[in-house]
Amino acid sequence: MATSRINRLQKLQLQKKELQQEVLMYRNVMESMRRHQAFEDILKFIIDNVTKGLGFDRAGIFLVNEQGDFIEQVMGIDPTGEYEVSGVKFPCNPLEGTHWFSDLVHGHVQWGLSNNIKKKVSKEVYERDFLGKVICAAQVPIKVDADKTIGVLAVDNLFTKRNLKKSDLQALLNFATQAGLAIESFRLHEKVTALTITDPLTGVYNRRYFDHALDFEFKRATRYVRPLGLLYADLDHFKSINDKWGHATGDEVLKKIAVTLRSGLRNIDIVTRIGGEEFAMILPDTACEKARMVAERLVRDVEKAHESILGRPITISVGMACFPETTKDSEGLKLLADRSLYSAKENGRNRVGDLIVSHN
Ligand code: GH3
Ligand code: MG
Ligand code: MG
Repeated sequence: MATSRINRLQKLQLQKKELQQEVLMYRNVMESMRRHQAFEDILKFIIDNVTKGLGFDRAGIFLVNEQGDFIEQVMGIDPTGEYEVSGVKFPCNPLEGTHWFSDLVHGHVQWGLSNNIKKKVSKEVYERDFLGKVICAAQVPIKVDADKTIGVLAVDNLFTKRNLKKSDLQALLNFATQAGLAIESFRLHEKVTALTITDPLTGVYNRRYFDHALDFEFKRATRYVRPLGLLYADLDHFKSINDKWGHATGDEVLKKIAVTLRSGLRNIDIVTRIGGEEFAMILPDTACEKARMVAERLVRDVEKAHESILGRPITISVGMACFPETTKDSEGLKLLADRSLYSAKENGRNRVGDLIVSHN
């Protein structure tokens, strides 16, 4: 009687510990999302919770890629105990027997156990002889719900050679589901964040992101005493394109212009659509002379790339401003780029505007 009460108590204490572990992991994951930390940090939190929390020596997270054709190690612990992203890949295929991990993902097996890192133990051996065997590695599916598995959590006791107990396996199965939910939450959060800063028509950043990015880049340029260029591009006579060919064609033109602008710039340059047919481009580390060269090139690129679409050229006018040469603050940068754009329109369009210098 007393023994069974102690057993019950031990079980409850274990459950409490596991629950605390899950809560801790969640808190870390949510906190890291709030601080816009990288996916890598989420994966490290999960690994830490499996090792320091649940008590396994090592853990590895394997996730199925977007196409669903392979499963890849995205975070783990190497034989010296350090984090590693080995990127080791296995094929993932609904057919049974493609790979051990693939079988876990597709539900052909519920878990995997081995008495060393490589060798598998069958379900029958486990049922019959679990406690008698030296089993020090296990693999369980990372599920987000009953029918959806996004990867595999693999653990082992490589250093201590501690034998896995039945309760370890159950704890691991529960934990892997919590880890799956944390990974899914993070991915969803990333998707929502991307949507809130992306212009749905053209796929470049939107005005909200432009304001944030200009502020950020301006602070960086000031702190490190680096130049910063800003370009405003506005389509010429766009109203007449819409009037003549319709709004849908106008939209197609906008999409193509965005592609031309994006492909004419460096990766670190930020392309945004800040209004109906207006784009703003932030050019970090770019002084006036270079900014003008870039702007001239974009004007030519657009004219060349789009001439054939409607049987007549589609052109842009570009305004430019630079820090610190023409202005000392970010509001001034916007104002001068706008005035420079106006001068390009005044001087005949399909060109780069004058460089206007602020006297403040
Ligand atoms: P300018 O050379 O002086 O810039 O002439 P414009 O015709 O381009 O300038 P205006 O500002 O008079 O007209 C801009 C037009 O852009 C008005 C509107 O029909 C069009 N426009 C704005 N947003 C969109 C959009 O999302 N899709 C499409 N198809 N057209 C848009
Ligand atoms: Mg306009
Ligand atoms: Mg226009």
